[in-house]
Amino acid sequence: MSVLEAKPTEYVCRSALPTGPEELVLTARKVWLGRTTLVARALPDRDIRMIGAWCFLDHYGPEDVSDAPGMQVYAHPHTGLQTVSWLVEGEIEHRDSLGTQAMVSPGALNIMTAGRGIVHSEISQPDKPPTLHGVQLWVALPDAVRDTAPRFDRYTDLPRLDRDGVRGQVLVGEVDGVRSPTISFTPLVGADLSLDPGAQVELAVAADHEHGVFVVAGGLTCGDQATATTDQLVYLGTGRDRLRLIGGEQGCRALLLGGEPFAEEIVMWWNFIGRSHDEVAGFRRQWEVRDQRFPPVVDRRERVMEAPTMPTVPLKARPRRPRDRPTPAAADHVEGSR
Ligand code: MN
Repeated sequence: MSVLEAKPTEYVCRSALPTGPEELVLTARKVWLGRTTLVARALPDRDIRMIGAWCFLDHYGPEDVSDAPGMQVYAHPHTGLQTVSWLVEGEIEHRDSLGTQAMVSPGALNIMTAGRGIVHSEISQPDKPPTLHGVQLWVALPDAVRDTAPRFDRYTDLPRLDRDGVRGQVLVGEVDGVRSPTISFTPLVGADLSLDPGAQVELAVAADHEHGVFVVAGGLTCGDQATATTDQLVYLGTGRDRLRLIGGEQGCRALLLGGEPFAEEIVMWWNFIGRSHDEVAGFRRQWEVRDQRFPPVVDRRERVMEAPTMPTVPLKARPRRPRDRPTPAAADHVEGSR
C-alpha cells in the first residue's frame, strides 16, 4: 500500500497525550489509490494522528474486481515504519527488495519492517479472486530501531480469540489474555473481531494503552455509548482495563487497535517516516536517484512509482479542537455518538 495522492500532505504526528478515557467517533475520508482502488483512510485523522504507534489505516473494498485490475500499487519505497497487511477477501501479490514474493491472502498476516529502507509492490494477479477487501496499516518505528535492517514476516497461524458473542484473531500484542507472537517494536495491540448481532462483550486490555475500534463491516457500540458503522473509527483514549463492545443489528467486523502512546514526534510524508522535513526530503532525493538505501524489487522490469513534489510547509501537529475534548455534559454532541 502506498500514498498515491498527487500532492500528499506532510504530517507532523505524535500520539495523543494520555488524558484518560474518551469517546470520539471519526469518519474515514475517501482517497483514490491510483486510478484503480478507492480506500477509506482513517489514520492519520485531522485530530487523531496516531493510536499508539499505529499511524496509518486504509480500508479498501469489498470491491468486485472480476472485470477490473484490482490493486495495482507499483514499486515504491518506505522508511521508518512497518506495513501490516490483512485481507478479508481476495489475494494480492507482494514483492520487495529483499527478494520476497508472497501472497497477501485472508488469514495470513504480512508485516514488512522497512527499517532504514525497503521497496515493494502490491499487485492483483490476472487469476485473482473476484472480490478484493482488506486493510493496510502502518506502524511507526521508534527512534532506537528505525534504522534497523529491513525484513519481511508472514504469519499464517495467528492465535484465536473466541468468547461468547465474539470470534477473532489477535494480530499483534495481547487482548483478553490471548497473545500474538508477531514482531513489534513498541507496546502495541491489534485484533480482528467479529461480533454477533446484539452480542455484549468485555475484553481485557492494557489500561496504559490508548485504544481505537475501526468498523470494517456492520456496526457496533463501544466504550459507554459511542456507536459507529462501516469506515468509522471510535477513539477511546487511555485508562481502560476492559473494553466494552456491543454488536449492532447486523453484527460487526472490527479492528481493535491500541498501544502505548507514541511520545516521539514523527514527520510522515508520502511513503516515508522521518523526524524532520529535511530528513524526509533526503529520503525523497535518495529514491529519485535510486540510492542503495532503496534497492530494486525482485523483478527489475516492474513499474515504479516516482515521488511527488514535497510541500514547502509541513502540516504541524496542533492541539485538538474543543469539540474533541467532550466533557460528560457535552458528550451528546460528539460527532456520531448516540
Ligand atoms: Mn507500500
